[in-house]
Amino acid sequence: MSEYKQPRISDAEALDMLQNMPTAELMARADEIRRARHGSKTYYVHSHNLNPTNLCVVKCKLCSFWRPDNAADAYVTTIDDARKSLEKAQNWNLTDLHIVGGMIPELDLDYYEKLFALSREMLPGVLLQGMTAVEIHWIAGNAGISVRETLIRLKAAGFGSISGGGAEIFHPDVRKKIATTKILAQQWLDVHQVAHELGIPTNATMLFGHIEKDEHLIDHLSRLRALQDVTGGFQAVIPLPFQANGKALGVKYTPSGDRQVRVAALSRIYCDNFPHVRMLVNYMDRKLLGVLTHSGVDDIGGTSLDERIAKEGGAPTSQKFFTAQEMEDFLANLGHTPILTNSVYEDLKPETGNWKLEEGGVDNFKSQVSGLKFRWQAILDRVEAGERINAEDAAIIYDEAPFQELGRVADVCRRRAVPGDRATYVFDKNLNTTNVCVVDCKFCAFYTKQEKDNAYVKSPEEIVEQVKAAAEAGATQILIQGGLHPDLKLDYYEACLSGIRDNVDIWIHSLSPTEIEFMAKMEHISIKECLQRLKDAGLQSLPGGGAEILNDDIRKRISPKKTRSKAWLDLMEDAHSIGLKTTATMVYGFGETTEQRIEHFMKVRDLQDRTGGFTAFIPWSFSPDMTDLECPRLQNGVDYLRLVAMARIVLDNVPHLQAGWVTEGPDVSQLALQFGADDYGGVLMTEEVVSATGVDYKVDEDLVIHLIREAGWVPAQRTTQYDLIKVYDEVEA
Ligand code: SF4
Repeated sequence: MSEYKQPRISDAEALDMLQNMPTAELMARADEIRRARHGSKTYYVHSHNLNPTNLCVVKCKLCSFWRPDNAADAYVTTIDDARKSLEKAQNWNLTDLHIVGGMIPELDLDYYEKLFALSREMLPGVLLQGMTAVEIHWIAGNAGISVRETLIRLKAAGFGSISGGGAEIFHPDVRKKIATTKILAQQWLDVHQVAHELGIPTNATMLFGHIEKDEHLIDHLSRLRALQDVTGGFQAVIPLPFQANGKALGVKYTPSGDRQVRVAALSRIYCDNFPHVRMLVNYMDRKLLGVLTHSGVDDIGGTSLDERIAKEGGAPTSQKFFTAQEMEDFLANLGHTPILTNSVYEDLKPETGNWKLEEGGVDNFKSQVSGLKFRWQAILDRVEAGERINAEDAAIIYDEAPFQELGRVADVCRRRAVPGDRATYVFDKNLNTTNVCVVDCKFCAFYTKQEKDNAYVKSPEEIVEQVKAAAEAGATQILIQGGLHPDLKLDYYEACLSGIRDNVDIWIHSLSPTEIEFMAKMEHISIKECLQRLKDAGLQSLPGGGAEILNDDIRKRISPKKTRSKAWLDLMEDAHSIGLKTTATMVYGFGETTEQRIEHFMKVRDLQDRTGGFTAFIPWSFSPDMTDLECPRLQNGVDYLRLVAMARIVLDNVPHLQAGWVTEGPDVSQLALQFGADDYGGVLMTEEVVSATGVDYKVDEDLVIHLIREAGWVPAQRTTQYDLIKVYDEVEA
């Protein structure tokens, strides 16, 4: 099996890829390299963090971890304190102990020699990774000896490898602003070179998403690649997303999903002499991390028990893993082979794919890929050329094509369906009439029973007041839905709708086919008559709720009492026939087959061919927590992007495709804009149904505009009918 040789790209090619290559294509390129290097293996560690002190003489602007000397929560860990912490960790089957922290004179070389010796004694076999080049350089200076002598003494005490921290960005234009008092780039590189010469493996970070420019990232990676050419001592390059807490450096937002994926993928493609690309789980949303492991990242870091530095920086703690088993399950769910290792990948023999790629730039990628013709590729070529796909072909590409390739073609379809460089959003509010429901859907965590304490019903007056408040806050659309309450008759809904119509300037995009079917039944009138009365009362369009999967075998299992597929479609046809536009939704992840998902798409497409009444399609994944339904397999970010791309490719007659941040999170939904979606959905203000399952993402209008813009689209606020209200052409202050 030939040794895999990754081709080298130039700095100019790298900059061009980072700035211009479609995200899905960049992901595909990086994933190919990752697979050629590691196959499906994905590495993780079970680590404990020991931060000796949060006092620090360096006081970087970008750091939220250090404390002033007199701060109430300032601390210094004595050797005895460390012993207690290590005693606790002795039964945790750790692979790594990470020792990193602030720099103060008291914690000198002697202290660290004692700390590493104690750690080696109490945690034999655990890799003692620690200290950044900044700390080592500082301690050597403090001891009045060379870095080499310092490293020799630390190694003798048990020190196993240098973590990659302190690199930030090497370029002086940036470093002088973000790490004024930190060692210079060359000093950082020199510490790592000496370590490599002493046989101490190290990692290298790159902090991105603050004030740096793309050129500064390429410059940073090129310095790392150059040193690696000399020493080969680096194990992993670690792109680190800057945790913006609004204070440090005046940066408002942490780099978005699209930016993180682009930087990680480019790092994989550019750093051709680095075995691993690591992204740290405790810095991000799990759904995004899943996508990153299919975008060049082969290592997700570790459990990092007791990690404080990222936490202080505002990293989301809700996504953390606490056991190695959790990480193994997470990776297996993504189709990876989980490999528990340590931070120097000891006793692991990297697997090579049976690829042999010639030397020489980007074009090689294209020529190599085009040499292998898969049946999915022929089908995607036809779709890319504008041909309509049939159900059989759709099932083939759904199961066989790399999701990144589906994304690349879906992006082409999106630009055909919605020309221009805009991505839209709507400022809306979700409002529920009642949480009392007689339908008992097994996947629903929102509903309750009349007799329950948490049951509520809002009066039409209350509804109108809340809609008024939403309109005053800027909402242009109101989405009213709720449970099927046995006492709420058609006249209740007519009172709500007409109250809004007569008192508030807002578009009424409300009620689901299931609610309307129930009203008509209770009123003993036809669906069409019921729809007409609702329209006369002020209803202007229908959201496509209650579609879940339009296959009755699935519906009988997940919601036996709910509207059947044909009834849902017929009701939408009736609505379209009286001039009520609607959207169509899909909730997936109930264990349905690919064919059943394609069936759902085809039913929507066929109705659209007849009526043209669907304005948009909105898919999201099933959230199982707090529901009565077993989840056969939790849907991850890759599943979502694959489904979004398929929706765009199959639904060639539905103009708009909405991303679903409520269940997928702001970052993966942003990526959906690169996989065929042209709309970010609603700012929503409030949401009760999905949050009842514990999934509780939040966005606001500013964040939505920022995410659309950072994905390379021009943000535009739209109406319910997709007319533009405001286009944010210029980056407003
Ligand atoms: S999903 Fe809707 S219809 Fe089903 S139980 Fe929940 S509120 Fe009722």
